[in-house]
Amino acid sequence: MKLFTVGPVEMFPETLDVSGRQLPYFRTERFSEILLESERLIKEFSKSDEEDRCVFLTCSGTGAMEAAITGCFSPDDKLLVISGGSFGRRFCEICDVHGIPYTPIEVMNGEKLTEGSISKYDGCGYTGMLVNVDETSTGQLYDMKMISEFCKRNGMYLIADAISAFLADNIEFKGLGIDVMIVSSQKALSLSPGLSMLVLSRRIIDERISKRRSPSLYFDLNLHMKDGERGQTPFTPAVGTILELNAMLHAIQKEGGVDKKVEKTHNLALYFRNKIKGLALDIPAYPLSNAVTPILFRNGGAYDVHIRLMEEKGLVLTPSGGDLRDRMLRVSHIGNLREEDYDYLTDSLREILR
Ligand SMILES: *Cc1c(COP(=O)(O)O)cnc(C)c1O
Repeated sequence: MKLFTVGPVEMFPETLDVSGRQLPYFRTERFSEILLESERLIKEFSKSDEEDRCVFLTCSGTGAMEAAITGCFSPDDKLLVISGGSFGRRFCEICDVHGIPYTPIEVMNGEKLTEGSISKYDGCGYTGMLVNVDETSTGQLYDMKMISEFCKRNGMYLIADAISAFLADNIEFKGLGIDVMIVSSQKALSLSPGLSMLVLSRRIIDERISKRRSPSLYFDLNLHMKDGERGQTPFTPAVGTILELNAMLHAIQKEGGVDKKVEKTHNLALYFRNKIKGLALDIPAYPLSNAVTPILFRNGGAYDVHIRLMEEKGLVLTPSGGDLRDRMLRVSHIGNLREEDYDYLTDSLREILR
């Protein structure tokens, strides 16, 4: 089986080698060093500042989204949520659960998020913006520069879910004025699921997090930051996934760092998008993340193609839910994939579509 899914993804030999070994005890100097070094490298790869922080949470990406929202906002806030797919809606669901007021900015299927749809909220007293840098369910890459400028001129905090965009698209934490960046292990980091990270700006730590009493013990960011100072976590972390993470961060560094990694992903995405020209497939017109290419089936039948690719060719694409089930599959460019893999995928698609 070869995974073209958005997560979990094909893992790399470096991390496969680490996974499956006997886990060490973690309240040790050695483990603290590994966690501290991982924090340093995640901060470096996000282009954040020395004084910013990164905390490690043992949960899937959604847990980290919830931790970010509850750690920074309360029912006294008023948030804007870019809602252009299932992950944007998840932000809304989290706000609903915690009684935090928000206005969704809906991005309709196939449409691009424009300046006009956010600028109409200028000067309306919003305190924060929640956005998925790449809305993985549609593959749309939002214009973070535009969103960042909007947040700056309105004095809003910017929460960026970069779960599928980190390492796939160029993201500048400091440059974009991001206050919380959410990352998770099973996407481009290509690790086992279960570990998520929040990169936190000094500004939001000082102005918000440190002044708030967390409504959650497990996700109390102040506890995580305090223990993190000595390379520890308040509760038992996903020890194995942290070891995989450290190996992966080293591998990325050895191969030229984050920019090189993004460039590689970009090239793979372009390679595939060029390759499928001539097949009876369309690619959406809105800006796309390098992480994933949505392929639209002119005559429907997407889900059946998904099943046939899996059963006949051993290739696993990402199916869509809801209205898009028969119209769209998604092909990822994250994880251990190479041009040859896309050659085989394209040939298989051609054969099945014929
Ligand atoms: C994968 C993903 C998530 C998190 O999903 P989990 O299943 O909770 O890990 C959140 N946001 C985006 C944009 C994602 O791609």
